[in-house]
Amino acid sequence: MIVLLLTNKTLGHEARKLVTAFEQRGHQVDVNVPTATPHMVLARHLGNKNPMNLGLALHYQSIGIPVINTPQSVALAKNKYEAGKLFEANGLPVPHTKELTTLDHNFSYPLVAKVLRGSQGKGVYLCHTREDLAIASGAHGSMIIQEYIDNRPGEDLRVFVIGGRVVGVMKRKSLDGDFRANISQGGTGEVYPLTPEIETLALNVARIVGLDICGVDLLFAKHGFKVCEVNATPGFKGFDKYCGSTMADLIADYTCGRVCGG
Ligand code: ADP
Ligand code: MG
Repeated sequence: MIVLLLTNKTLGHEARKLVTAFEQRGHQVDVNVPTATPHMVLARHLGNKNPMNLGLALHYQSIGIPVINTPQSVALAKNKYEAGKLFEANGLPVPHTKELTTLDHNFSYPLVAKVLRGSQGKGVYLCHTREDLAIASGAHGSMIIQEYIDNRPGEDLRVFVIGGRVVGVMKRKSLDGDFRANISQGGTGEVYPLTPEIETLALNVARIVGLDICGVDLLFAKHGFKVCEVNATPGFKGFDKYCGSTMADLIADYTCGRVCGG
């Protein structure tokens, strides 16, 4: 079959791994530029940096081609505030969160301020004072402020979901005292056991925003976990490195199975 991979112009590690995985299975991969009508679209980067990608995803979706993840679910997941409200409305545990409209709010410090749409820990700040928050918010546009879950500082879980199944759980830990556990911020990872609580939370998160492939971040709270965020374009370099997984193969097998039934 022909797979259209929608991703960044400069191919990153994940895109290269995915191309290889599909080609090893005998499929043709067009990257960002379709040479024929694809049988399946794997949509990873649909943002402003790749202006054609969203249009292509919507077009092929409109003529009945499977698009994984759907552009609608990607859009929903990207907005941390709206996605968090959806999780909360569905009874999932989330940190108390508000849109940052004024520095006069009723949150106590420390609190976490983060950009509405961000990734890799960029634009995520631990603010101890109103001045910290003023500096953080001065550097960005729309932000949210959030209760700081301080039970296990610098640690969290990344749960990888593919097709309604948890395919891996990684505990991440920052190595330099940063409160952010992102591997891209210098954190490290290790395999973490999948428990029914983790599975239920991650699968509910994926279902609520409608993502077939996603990474769910969970924070260690006093009692159980809280949902930090969901990533529609989860990287897997760190996951493969620390957990011995081969996510590109799992993604290729799942998406091919969706289209070809095998
Ligand atoms: P990004 O999309 O940039 O990964 P996240 O919302 O996942 O943004 O935040 C980055 C990291 O910061 C998380 O993986 C977690 O380690 C830490 N973090 C985020 N929000 C909180 C919070 N409310 N309490 C404690 N730690 C947090
Ligand atoms: Mg994250």
